[in-house]
Amino acid sequence: MKRCALVTGGSRGIGAATALALAAKGYDVAITYRSQRVAAEGVAAEVERLGRKAVVLQADLADPARAREVVREAADALGGLHALVNNAGYVQRLPWEEISLEDWERMLTVTLTAAFVAAQVAVPYMAEAGFGRIVNVSSLRALTGSAHGAHYAAAKAGLLGLTKSLALALAPHGITVNAVCPGFVATDMNREVLEKRGDEIRAQIPLGRAAEPREVAAVVSFLCSEEASYITGETISVNGGIRMD
Ligand code: NAP
Repeated sequence: MKRCALVTGGSRGIGAATALALAAKGYDVAITYRSQRVAAEGVAAEVERLGRKAVVLQADLADPARAREVVREAADALGGLHALVNNAGYVQRLPWEEISLEDWERMLTVTLTAAFVAAQVAVPYMAEAGFGRIVNVSSLRALTGSAHGAHYAAAKAGLLGLTKSLALALAPHGITVNAVCPGFVATDMNREVLEKRGDEIRAQIPLGRAAEPREVAAVVSFLCSEEASYITGETISVNGGIRMD
């Protein structure tokens, strides 16, 4: 059966690995990027090498209107939408008292509002297909808080509330909604911190290393599969054991 997915922030890191994992599971994939067009096109070429259709779309998710529009563009280009992975995100390391209102609002908009409006646009396509998967990429920080990113931790925690709420509302439509909380993943996002404090961080992780993006992507793509049909409203940690609930 034809399956189509949209992965926001698919140009690099976890999103890029997720696009490839979904393609390997038979999904045609649309990916969005904010500024790294060349990287996004490279991911699309890899998706096509796996024999699936790939679509590349630019969207700065700080603009909720654009976040809505890009979901429509993805569904139009792919001919439907069965999975939405709200993955795009960024970190900003600041003590909480130095976070400006503008910093706060931008973080919440890109991380939480974009996921909400994207789901609002995506769900009718999924309901029509009688099949839908939404995966929100949250963070370990949603569970632990962050002394140097209160806005990041708050937005990621908000995604967990959104996940459970949508899971309840969308279950009657055959749509599952889940969240994944990665710990430390070897991507551009925390390259600097892993370079500076890598030994200290690895010492705190029972598995003794950061995750590879594909290790998070494997869980996200499983949650988007037929086989994950009875999992909804869940939060799945992929953190090497650094926090066990
Ligand atoms: P990454 O390698 O830095 O990639 C971030 C992606 O998000 C890129 O595709 C980027 O587009 C896109 N993006 C950033 N800001 C955007 C904006 N304003 N509008 C639209 N797209 C935007 O990050 P990553 O490590 O793969 O992280 C992916 C997700 O996992 C994020 O939500 C992050 O919070 C979460 N996470 C990561 C870790 C980790 O250790 N890496 C841990 C926990 C959670 P461009 O390429 O065009 O810039």
